Parts: sequence; structure tokens; C-alpha cells
Amino acid sequence: MDKGAQKFLGKALDDLTAWGTSFGAWSQDPVLSVSDERAEAVFSRLAQRLKCNYPFHHPAYAGQMLKPPHPLAWAAYAMAMSINPNNHALDGGPPSSEMEKEVMADLAGFFGYGEDFLGHLTASGTIANLEALWVARQSHPKKKIAYSGNAHYTHERMCSVLKVEGHKIAISDDGSFDLDAVDPEEIGTIVVTLGTTGLGEVEPLDQIIPWAKEHGIRIHIDAAYGGFFRVLKDSDLSNEPAWSLMQEADSIVVDPHKHGLQPYGCGCVLFKDPSVGKFYKHDSPYTYFTSEELHLGEISLECSRAGAAAVALWATLEMFPLKEDEGFGPILRKCLGAAKRMYQLAELSKKIKAYKEPELDILGYFPSECETTSKISQKSKEVFEKGMRDRTFYLSLYKISSEAFSRRHPEYKVDTESVTILRSVFMKPEHYDFVPQLFHRIVDGIS
Ligand SMILES: *Cc1c(COP(=O)(O)O)cnc(C)c1O
Repeated sequence: MDKGAQKFLGKALDDLTAWGTSFGAWSQDPVLSVSDERAEAVFSRLAQRLKCNYPFHHPAYAGQMLKPPHPLAWAAYAMAMSINPNNHALDGGPPSSEMEKEVMADLAGFFGYGEDFLGHLTASGTIANLEALWVARQSHPKKKIAYSGNAHYTHERMCSVLKVEGHKIAISDDGSFDLDAVDPEEIGTIVVTLGTTGLGEVEPLDQIIPWAKEHGIRIHIDAAYGGFFRVLKDSDLSNEPAWSLMQEADSIVVDPHKHGLQPYGCGCVLFKDPSVGKFYKHDSPYTYFTSEELHLGEISLECSRAGAAAVALWATLEMFPLKEDEGFGPILRKCLGAAKRMYQLAELSKKIKAYKEPELDILGYFPSECETTSKISQKSKEVFEKGMRDRTFYLSLYKISSEAFSRRHPEYKVDTESVTILRSVFMKPEHYDFVPQLFHRIVDGIS
């Protein structure tokens, strides 16, 4: 644990304890006490069990979208959690609700929305997308929701939950959507993913906006993974118009618990038009009494929500602003750089080939000294397992249709329907310096 975070947390908790006792002396009921020996035994067992995790903190872990939160975000979360505010009704946590509103205004501004918007934090990207699709259905009750085959599987699933018909749009090799094959009359909302979960691809928002506007179709951006990369829209990502057009969308989802340095339990949904708040309208016999002001629970499908999540994100954005040359910009630039570095090493290598050039910080690659797709899959799985067994590197696997694979790499004989390749998410800035070493470890792991 980061010493700085420990120090600040210790001090802040003392301060809160003093505040707690200012209401008069009290003590915890003995029914809640546990002996030191027992607690110590449990915590020592816990430490043993938690050590069975993969080393998400270490740059040798370049597998899934996983990393610990920033130590200071963790400290802010722990501090708020000692009070445990609930950001449902305002009286559940006035300061953390205020911080949530401030954070939402910050994020709305970051994505280019005006001051009049609607939005709140959620437990996850899944819940945030569910709300966005629910509003999509309420806005166009009889129409379909369209998304590409690279969209997160949650969209198809949530269409089923919401009993809305989903429509999968085909994509060409250059990444464009095959809109000619879609009947625009049937579609109410189209989902565009900026930073797909598989390979971090950026879908062509610039192609979709004029089409959607012409036909009165709403646009939902799923930027659960990629959203924070918008800080680099005028520099590293300036060749990708999608990032500069996000404010054109009707709703946006971003996950601060992915690239926002937060612990799990922090997604976010934003709506450009605050009048969608009408869909949330409900009365409650229990809540909303302390203030005429907007209670966040009035615009959220979830009831209890961790105020600590808002506090941690608020503190993080105070320390790491959403700027190109300060705060998030330099962090994400290193992540992008790590993926590019790995791609360049693969370009020069005889043993590893990149599946395609990375758009964000996720790279797909495979052992190249193979003749068939079945051999690529087999070798990829072997390397993946060897790294974990030897504790030298941790990757993830990714399955693609052999047809799509073959269009990019026609030199391999197709003898299977799909091919499994290796995949690395470089979501820690420490990956940038570590990539050359990681690459050599992987090459050494290929038999
Ligand atoms: C991760 C992700 C989701 C799901 O979000 P959770 O926070 O895991 O529930 C949805 N869409 C995209 C693009 C994602 O990357």
C-alpha cells in the first residue's frame, strides 16, 4: 500500500473520529465486538486467500481490464465508507450527493454537453447501459435498438431484459457500419462503441451521426472503456474524428472503474436532454422529504448507491484533472504508447504478429510461426498458460471468426470456424516501460 495514501487516510480518519464524538460520548455495543485473536486469525486467512489473485497491480499482468484503484482514490473511498453515505435521497448523504453532482457536471462538460443535462453514477457500465437503453425504449417504444457485432454483449442481453428487439449491424473491414443494409424506419436508437471491449476499436461515430440525424434516430455512445481517452482528442487521437463529436450523442456511458482510477462500483450515464427525467418519475412514501432540490434517486433506476464512489471520484478528479497535459492526459498517453510499442515490436518480430494496429491501449496478437488457424489457437493457449504457470506474464485470450481473421491474414490456412489469439490490455502507465521486457518474456514462452 502506498505510504502517502496511508498517511493521509490515517489523519483524515482521526479527524472524522473527532467529528463523530462531537455529538456526545458513545461506544460500540459489545455484541459487535470480536476478540483480537479471532480477528487476527481471520485477517491472516484472508491474506492467504487473496494472494491467489493474479498480480493485477504489476506490469507483468497485461491480460484483462483489471487493475487496483489509485491508492488515493482507495483512501478517499475508505474514508467516506467509514460514514457509509447513500446517494439515493439527499438526506442519505448530503456532501457525497453534492460531490456526485459536481463530478457529473465535470464529466458532462468533458464530453461536450451543456449545463442542462441529466446524469448520475451507477454501480457499473452494465447498469449505466441498461438505463440508457431503457430511456431509448421509452423514447421510441415500438422501434429497435441497433448495435454492431463488436458492441459489448450487454446490449443484446439488455434488449432481451427490456423486451426490445435488437438489430445487429454488419461492419466492413475498414470499420464502417453497413448502414445500407439497415431499414432506418425500424430503428429508434443506435449504439456506437468508442473503445470496444475486445480490441479497443473506435466505431465510426462520424459516419453514423448524419445518417441518424436524417432519420430521427437517437445515438447512444458506449464509452464504458474508452471514454476517458477523449482527453487526447486534440493530440494523440486527433486523426480519429469520433472523439470530437461525442456531444452530438443523446446519451453517453463511461466507467470510472475502468480507466478512471476507481475501485469497482463506479459507472456513469449521461443524457444530453434533461427532459428524459420524466421517464424516471415516481413517488416514494419513504424518501425525498428533506429538500425540494433534485434527489439523485429521482433520476436513477438503482435505489441505494455508494456515496463513497462519488467521493472517491471527486477526490480523484481534484488531483487528476481531465486535461491533455495534466492529470489523465499523461496517464492515458502512456497506456496508448505501451500498446503502440508492443505493436512495433511485433512488426519486427519473426515469432509474434499483431492482429491489427491498436486504436487504443488493447492489442491482439498471435504466435506467427504456424500454418493453420487451429495451430494459432493451440499455440496461443499454450503461451497464455505458460506465462501463468511460470508467473512471468499474464495475458488474455480472444476469439475471432476465422473469416475475419483470414481477411487480415490470408497467408494462414483456415481449418477452424474461429481462431483464438492473445490479447493484452495495457491499462497501467507502468506498462509503457515494461513492454520490451514483457515482449521478450512472451517470445521466450513460445515453444
Ligand atoms: C466493460 C464494458 C461494459 C460493461 O461494464 P461493466 O462496468 O463491466 O458492467 C459495457 N460496455 C463496454 C464497451 C465495456 O468495455
